Amino acid sequence: MMSEETRKGAEIIRRGGVVAFPTETVYGLGADAFNPIAVARVFEVKRRPYFDPLIVHLATLKDLDRLVREIPSKAERLIEKFWPGPLTLVLFKKEEVPEIVTSGLQTVAVRMPKHPMTLQLIQLAETPIVGPSANPFGYLSPTRAEDVQEQLGDQVDFILDGGPCEVGVESTIVSFAEEGPALLRAGGIPLEEIESIIGKVNITKSGEKGPLAPGMLPKHYAPRTPVLLNWDEASPEELKEKRIGLLAFREPMVFFNFSHIEILSKKGDLREAAANLFSAMRRLDRLGLDLILAEPVPEVGLGRAIMDRLRKASSTLKGEGGS
Ligand code: AMP
Ligand code: MG
Repeated sequence: MMSEETRKGAEIIRRGGVVAFPTETVYGLGADAFNPIAVARVFEVKRRPYFDPLIVHLATLKDLDRLVREIPSKAERLIEKFWPGPLTLVLFKKEEVPEIVTSGLQTVAVRMPKHPMTLQLIQLAETPIVGPSANPFGYLSPTRAEDVQEQLGDQVDFILDGGPCEVGVESTIVSFAEEGPALLRAGGIPLEEIESIIGKVNITKSGEKGPLAPGMLPKHYAPRTPVLLNWDEASPEELKEKRIGLLAFREPMVFFNFSHIEILSKKGDLREAAANLFSAMRRLDRLGLDLILAEPVPEVGLGRAIMDRLRKASSTLKGEGGS
């Protein structure tokens, strides 16, 4: 089924416009990846620094041919297994991919999103599209069309509403630029699942080689309200007379007079928790609290991506925002 809305979005992209679009991870800010001026507008709207390269979203393997020089066999196996889905691959780019997309790198990040509306959008636009998260640089990623409307509504040409995002955290990024595959960002496909297909994946620590991905910057995915992750370290004195919200993984086990409690997953399901993460943080952020206490989640499967986002949201290194 082809909606009028999707057709309209595709037409705007073909003409060089900027369209916010749904994916299974978070909402993206879309523009024709082969139109450098349209891509420049995406950076402007997000107020994203130009050194921070974008992910190109595609709908078919033919699109992939237009973007990358070669596909290593391990990358091919991941594509077979996880596309369409929340896995981004960094591969050597073809000459034709504009430098603004890759921030001058010889590699390009690519993925095929798992959302029927978006796959149609890309096919109708007849071009792969860039798609950083549709939020101002440094803030929480949007997981509903209303989130985009609230923050960037007056700056984009169109918002394609595809309902709430199913996965709720960004894609996992695996790079094939260096020897052996390397994990650049934990995300919607657990590392364990990737390693079950291609064996050991190197884990790149933030800062080792400069921020290869904005998700590797220390401060990222952050609400305006300060977030405390290791809150057992906070003294009762520090917490006294403050309006504090709790971001709980499951039923909270602490006794404290919280102003508000958000529970990510009552049954302790990491998938459900990931899907609720950004909208729960948004709700807490709207309350004008003094502090958000975030409860750590088990660091397995999607828990790795959730903990990565929570650590970055709670980083005290203010001002080093990521997208
Ligand atoms: P976002 O779209 O904001 O979720 O971020 C996209 C992520 O992909 C960012 O963290 C980028 O830095 C990363 N990325 C995009 N292109 C490349 C590349 N060529 N090499 C390494 N990382 C990349
Ligand atoms: Mg982002």
